[in-house]
Amino acid sequence: MAQQGKGPFVSTVTGLVRGVGLFKGPDGVESTSVAIAPDARDLMDASLKPIEDFSQVPPADLRTAAGRAGFSTFISVSRDPSLWPTVETLVISTLDLDPWSVVNQQLFRERAGEADGAVRLMARAAEAKRCVLAVPGHLADSAGRFSQGTAQVVLVPPVYPNGLPEILARECGSGSLLTCKAGGVVGNTLVVGFEQAVAMADCLKEGKPLLEKTVTLCPGNGDPLKNYRLRIGTPVGDILEKEGTELQSGGKLVMNGILRGFACFSAEQPVTEAVDAVHVQAPSQVFFYEDSACTNCGKCNAVCPVNLEVNLLGRCSEYGVFEKCRDLGVENCVECGLCAYVCPARRPLVQFLAHAKQVIETETFEAVSMEEVMACDACGPTCPAIRLFDTTLQEQGGPEE
Ligand code: SF4
Ligand code: SF4
Repeated sequence: MAQQGKGPFVSTVTGLVRGVGLFKGPDGVESTSVAIAPDARDLMDASLKPIEDFSQVPPADLRTAAGRAGFSTFISVSRDPSLWPTVETLVISTLDLDPWSVVNQQLFRERAGEADGAVRLMARAAEAKRCVLAVPGHLADSAGRFSQGTAQVVLVPPVYPNGLPEILARECGSGSLLTCKAGGVVGNTLVVGFEQAVAMADCLKEGKPLLEKTVTLCPGNGDPLKNYRLRIGTPVGDILEKEGTELQSGGKLVMNGILRGFACFSAEQPVTEAVDAVHVQAPSQVFFYEDSACTNCGKCNAVCPVNLEVNLLGRCSEYGVFEKCRDLGVENCVECGLCAYVCPARRPLVQFLAHAKQVIETETFEAVSMEEVMACDACGPTCPAIRLFDTTLQEQGGPEE
């Protein structure tokens, strides 16, 4: 284990350190990396001591121990474990983030009866006032094996995007998701996946770092979903090899689902703590966005789980009118991908909205004046954004005669 900045850096292999420096990953992105020639043996970090009884350890020490074991759960909210915000509700989710992932669901089926210790650990470490176990409706039987003394069981309809943290915080938490933003920590509900809670309890009990991750493979050929338990750092291509599946030329590998995931640049890309699913797409299944104008069909608005005016937001972001994006509440977008999925014009709506969120958060945008907007004659009277600009002008009292 090494320190990188203030956070821990955990290696999942033991071996000789060959170098530390800037290396390009398989995605082409350069980052600080440690090159290790792996040994056949596993040597555990001796500074990680087993914790027999979580109830005897102060919460801040539990958060520190979890961070040192390689869990980002608490570090992503507060780099300093002693500066912990108030958590109104802790939601431990047995739902999965993506419709094609069954990681949390399968683990809950297998270990519902012994989940009590993991829930107690998470509640103590998070210093939560209230603890909820969110369970998809079809696993109500498994929920019956869970001791309800430690957390209130809430059944959630197993419909996407109900498993997303923001939606769970709204539906069974105290309202808003606890996140670390540029201006500080906001929100009141911490959402943790069931796999992560159980793995943390196992690792802290045994005094070992987080070494493995379960990943759902969606082979994309009609075969059923299958879970693989892998060492973190394993190349995605190894899963395909084990499954006997090949990526066809023109096909695509997508991590974390086709609605909100990202394409792998290479089968060498490693599985990380944050990867739940790998989707193999045949060339015929690959989706291409188009540079098309919005037809105002309204399908994106109808499907949005947080009731945004997605058609307007898409155009505002496309034309750089970020102030209007902020006024329309773009920051509430949970990036579920449903709008882009239903858009008949194949507009890259999630990318438009995510870009607007990023610009607003970093406040790097300059307000676009209406004069500048009206001076643009790139498309003439067929301007696809005309309704947006008309709306803006009406709000400002209409165009001058
Ligand atoms: S991705 Fe689209 S549908 Fe999902 S929350 Fe954002 S705007 Fe709404
Ligand atoms: S679904 Fe696409 S075409 Fe229809 S209103 Fe939304 S952005 Fe426009």
